[in-house]
Amino acid sequence: MAMINMIGTELKNLFSRPATRKTEKEYPENTRGHVVNDMDLCVFCGACMMRCPSKAITVDRNEKTWTIHPMSCIQCRACVDNCPKKCLSMEKRFTEPGPDKIAITCHQTEKARIAEEEMKRAAAEKAKAAAEAKAKAEAAKKAAETAPDTARAE
Ligand code: SF4
Ligand code: SF4
Repeated sequence: MAMINMIGTELKNLFSRPATRKTEKEYPENTRGHVVNDMDLCVFCGACMMRCPSKAITVDRNEKTWTIHPMSCIQCRACVDNCPKKCLSMEKRFTEPGPDKIAITCHQTEKARIAEEEMKRAAAEKAKAAAEAKAKAEAAKKAAETAPDTARAE
């Protein structure tokens, strides 16, 4: 009897769909995926690093690098939700398994470097214009203060 049951189960399994999913191709709803960074937009502010509860992200402002340790990431999305530039997202893809705790380091792109220089230049020009306007206003104020004295002296 047991043999008949076993053959029945085997036949059923042989002609039914797999009970498991093909993880490389199918991502069920609510799959959290893993964190990816659009390096054209990252400004290395460090907000993601500060918010990460598992210390999976490292940001080096001087070297202009953004590093993630995928094996430490718990896919909580805190970094994605707190990035001021909205350059982080959760890609619907599972973290690659592996024997080592790897780190993935991304560097500032040429596009981002040019954008940063442009922003610095615009800020410097704005500061210069503000300083000139202030100096002009002070000179005008000084001139207005000395004008009545001159009138009285006449
Ligand atoms: S929070 Fe966003 S912009 Fe800031 S370092 Fe992280 S990824 Fe870059
Ligand atoms: S998803 Fe969560 S654990 Fe993963 S890097 Fe972002 S903040 Fe850290």
